Amino acid sequence: MKDTNKHQGLRNQLAKVLEEKGITDKNVLEVIKKIPRHLFLNSSFEDFAYQDKAFPIGAGQTISQPYTVAFQSQLLEVKKDDKILEIGTGSGYQTAVLCLLGAKVYSIERQNELFKTTSLLLPKLGIRPKHLSFGDGYKGLPNHAPFDSIIVTAGAPIIPKPLMAQLKIGGKLVIPVGDKDQVMTMLIRKNETQFEKHEFGDFKFVPLLENKN
Ligand code: SAH
Repeated sequence: MKDTNKHQGLRNQLAKVLEEKGITDKNVLEVIKKIPRHLFLNSSFEDFAYQDKAFPIGAGQTISQPYTVAFQSQLLEVKKDDKILEIGTGSGYQTAVLCLLGAKVYSIERQNELFKTTSLLLPKLGIRPKHLSFGDGYKGLPNHAPFDSIIVTAGAPIIPKPLMAQLKIGGKLVIPVGDKDQVMTMLIRKNETQFEKHEFGDFKFVPLLENKN
């Protein structure tokens, strides 16, 4: 669990790359500079941890590409103490970004192996999400709803209705929608029944899976 000056240098570089690719939110860029992404990856990928790429994290899953993490985080416009639900904890890197942006993070993962590893890793790095749970993200967390924002970090064939229902009025749901490729989609809840939809181009995610395991 070492974090060196060399890693810090690579992180500063990565933040620059993300800025060049169009990330403008200074808070997001600052947080990218702080989080030791190499510690979220298997040590054999350590040398590549600060490239703008996705990598395998076990259980057939991937840690999202830094640009994707930054892009989704930027869309959320996180304010301190925002209550945010994340679907797909995975490596915990996106969780860490949201925590360092000051959010109270609730996160769900359906792969038990990843849930266990990440639940141990985050506190070791001093990162404390409000609630990590093992289960099916399609259902959200009705007992903890409503949320200021919800972020889905796997490709969803459809927008799950329970997630829409668990959003505060004025809240945002950021979700990649589609089967093979996904369109980054943001729904803003206008009132009890109406949602405003915005789309932000194509991304590629591992699938959001339902009722397996
Ligand atoms: N935010 C993670 C992304 C991991 S990839 C990171 O940066 O590391 C997407 C994750 O979503 C995988 O870990 C996968 O197991 C999880 N996932 C897929 N379907 C899910 C579901 N229905 N509920 C919760 N998690 C799910």
